[in-house]
Amino acid sequence: MSFASLGLDPALLRALDGLGYHQPTEIQQLAIPTVLAGHDLLAGAQTGTGKTAAFSLPLLQRLAPGGAASPRQPRALILTPTRELALQVQQSLKEYGQHLRMRSCTIFGGVGMQPQVEALRRGVEIVVATPGRLIDHMQQRTIDLSKVEALVLDEADRMLDMGFLPAMRRILAVLPKQRQTLLFSATFASEIKQLAQQFMQQPAEVQA
Ligand code: AMP
Repeated sequence: MSFASLGLDPALLRALDGLGYHQPTEIQQLAIPTVLAGHDLLAGAQTGTGKTAAFSLPLLQRLAPGGAASPRQPRALILTPTRELALQVQQSLKEYGQHLRMRSCTIFGGVGMQPQVEALRRGVEIVVATPGRLIDHMQQRTIDLSKVEALVLDEADRMLDMGFLPAMRRILAVLPKQRQTLLFSATFASEIKQLAQQFMQQPAEVQA
């Protein structure tokens, strides 16, 4: 099985080649075609399985041509439980998207708002955020989420463990209903299933 056979475009294949990724991992094999096809996805995957590429590669491809939306308004939102994970995900997006014109920024607490506000003002296609600080930006109207086409909940179980459920619900409430939603979690407690039922549309389920 090759990355090319999953339907990824040459700009991404070139980046993967440069990174020395020769074969998709199991979660990548399962997730990439489903996400490329535009379906919602409920994925069981631990850290270390290659889950970041499993959602980043097809999202980069789907967003790359630039849609009808105003330029450089966030079109994808990736929620993570921690700043470390947010930074890691953004680093991966930069590596995989190095031959595409896609800008991303990270949003997390414990640092000043202003640099984040400026990054948003300059314009990004992808926002990688922790829930609490994202709410701050929503309240201060420094972020416009009205053009978001894709939402990723990364390590959803950890976000719930950290008490982010109310914040996640507030964020979900302002996103366009018409969007693709991808949920990655190592475990599937009943709260995760409830979230999926409430906020996803007939998700494909994969387990790595
Ligand atoms: P993740 O589970 O997303 O945290 O990824 C775990 C590690 O595997 C990261 O360091 C990735 O760079 C690496 N990785 C992901 N997919 C592949 C692949 N198909 N081939 C080689 N390394 C990979």
